[in-house]
Amino acid sequence: MYEMTTEASVELSEELKLLQDTLKRFVHKEVVPQAEQIDDEDRFPRDLMFGLGRLGLLGITVPEKYGGSGAGLLAQAIVVEELARASAGLASSYAAHSNLVADNLNRHANHYQKEKYLPSLCSGDKIGCLAITEPGSGSDALAMRTRAVRDGDHYVLNGTKIFITNGPVADIIVTYAKTAPEKGSRGISTFIVEKEFEGFSVGRKIDKLGHKGSPFGELVFNDCRVPAQNMVGEENSMVHMLMSGLHRERIVWSSEAVGIAQGAYDIASKYAKEREQFNKPIGEFQMIQEKLVDMALDIHIGRVLVRRCAKMAEVQNHGDVGLEASYAKLFCGDMSERVTSKALHILGGYGYTKEFQVERFYRDAKAMPIGAGTSEIQRLIIARKLLR
Ligand SMILES: Cc1cc2nc3c(=O)[nH]c(=O)nc-3n(C[C@H](O)[C@H](O)[C@H](O)COP(=O)(O)OP(=O)(O)OC[C@H]3O[C@@H](n4cnc5c(N)ncnc54)[C@H](O)[C@@H]3O)c2cc1C
Repeated sequence: MYEMTTEASVELSEELKLLQDTLKRFVHKEVVPQAEQIDDEDRFPRDLMFGLGRLGLLGITVPEKYGGSGAGLLAQAIVVEELARASAGLASSYAAHSNLVADNLNRHANHYQKEKYLPSLCSGDKIGCLAITEPGSGSDALAMRTRAVRDGDHYVLNGTKIFITNGPVADIIVTYAKTAPEKGSRGISTFIVEKEFEGFSVGRKIDKLGHKGSPFGELVFNDCRVPAQNMVGEENSMVHMLMSGLHRERIVWSSEAVGIAQGAYDIASKYAKEREQFNKPIGEFQMIQEKLVDMALDIHIGRVLVRRCAKMAEVQNHGDVGLEASYAKLFCGDMSERVTSKALHILGGYGYTKEFQVERFYRDAKAMPIGAGTSEIQRLIIARKLLR
């Protein structure tokens, strides 16, 4: 079930409209037919990741010389929205790979590292993940305890990361560790780890409520030896990469929330036109109309926030993109929960079953105010900036 309904959006360039059309065709043909099965079986859709690679979308923000398409963050947000409209699991894995890893490396890695790692990430031959969160530090990410100690021409990493999207299937892991714990956030460094490196292992895969098909779990660094040439940027000074990466992640994550909400809306509005009670389609009852209107407005506002912020990030990169990204993340995270809940309600008892897939969007939406910094953390960031 993939029908076009509301297309409320800020104006896109002809190029981006073309990208969106291509993607809609891909999603309709390749993703929709297996979206429910991906969820049921919690199966990582490796074939679809390759397909996205063939379309040039895995490295969408990476320059052509490193195997990418050289587009911007807005293009990436559009891809994520369209994927999430059909399969949030695929959208999450795509976002972790393409935004958290490829985009981050493109912005911070040196030429040697980009030449070595970006082409296989852009083609889909290698899968990437970004590991920040630890069992003891989630919202307080800078309190991470993973340590990296220099030993000749290697660093030795020790620590555990958790809730890492793509972690169980990743070939290339970008991670953060403290190289000078006494310096707090000024003692954080970034490393590129290959899954074959001595001392690296995948811990348990963690089962979750939604985003099925996007594997997530624990990563263990046990005296893991990483060549010094795999350190990204300068030792002790990579908190800026972590923070600016979070801003960009929040924009893309918000776009995923918009896609999830739109997917649920599509189902609910179609159902409201077809389902009859009291001898008329339920869509003719004003209380159902009110819900649909509120949902469409919520989605529209979320989409405008995301696209405006993505455009800002393209020209400016830092500045108050952080504030705008937190506004978008806070609104879109909560919005996707509101919209999917109303969508499920419009389908009545059928909404509560697995027959119309709306329950899948409802489960997927629950993660949106949590991942990439919870709603509470977004409120703290916004308050801090407003009261500065
Ligand atoms: C689907 C999904 C995918 C993810 N993918 C990745 C990934 O690829 N890489 C990665 O590194 N991480 C990933 N994460 C982890 C995610 O970033 C963390 O779950 C998130 O930052 C919250 O951390 P936590 O789970 O430890 O919760 P905690 O930080 O323990 O928070 C628990 C509760 O306390 C609240 N809280 C915490 N501090 C405050 C405060 N100061 N004031 C008020 N309330 C507060 C929180 O809002 C929350 O409600 C993913 C999470 C999910 C759900």
